[in-house]
Amino acid sequence: MLRFKNEKEVELLRKSNLLVSMALAELAKHIEPGITTSYLDSIAESFIRDNGAVPAFKGYNGFPATLCTSLNDTVVHGIPSNEVLKEGDVISIDCGVILNGYVGDSAFTFPVGEISEEAVKLLEYTRTSLEEGIKKAVAGNRIGDVSHAVQKKAESGGFSVVREFVGHGIGKKMHEPPEVPNFGRQGTGSLMKKGLVICIEPMINMGERGVMMLSDGWTIKTIDGKYSAHFEKAVAIDKDKADVLTTFEYIDEVLKGK
Ligand code: MG
Ligand code: MG
Repeated sequence: MLRFKNEKEVELLRKSNLLVSMALAELAKHIEPGITTSYLDSIAESFIRDNGAVPAFKGYNGFPATLCTSLNDTVVHGIPSNEVLKEGDVISIDCGVILNGYVGDSAFTFPVGEISEEAVKLLEYTRTSLEEGIKKAVAGNRIGDVSHAVQKKAESGGFSVVREFVGHGIGKKMHEPPEVPNFGRQGTGSLMKKGLVICIEPMINMGERGVMMLSDGWTIKTIDGKYSAHFEKAVAIDKDKADVLTTFEYIDEVLKGK
């Protein structure tokens, strides 16, 4: 059953998701060759707690950290460790918070130093596919309209869409119905109405779409070892437009200054 939020709840979700946007921008300042993913995790946890929130991922189904840090061929759910970032890497950072009882959830894939032209293109297409999906996230459309728009954009760049992991509704719980796949047919799936809040989060591979889980029970990697990218925003469905609760503006400002 879909849970529709009233205006007060949407405003609370806006606050939670804004905090995640700011946490990711804080991390952007620190991403460079030579640092470890567990260092990023400690910065994120302090930032979140200093802002009166708690990390949403830590302890979720036993997940051990504040962030999912997914490097290169890791698609999602990478666990922060003493692994060191190096020039040419791409790192997807997924961050979740609970603020005033409402969850914020967003992901961004960062370049580490100079990255290859093909990696730049992967990041651009993944991010743009998210924006194409957001354009369709309006009342009266169906989830399949969002899914189709994401898939069309990603595949137009010669990339492939991960099928095993999908976006989701969000509220007091991090994962609520409906599922929001990054592939699908227009006019199918749940009808979106004002008050539905969803996370759209394309996971796009440079090579084949197949993925596998490591023996840690979390880390998801591409089978062919090629890079993967992941961007995520939370969106409140409204009458004529998508009310986007996440912003990448702060991240872009930091990256521009680098
Ligand atoms: Mg996320
Ligand atoms: Mg999510």
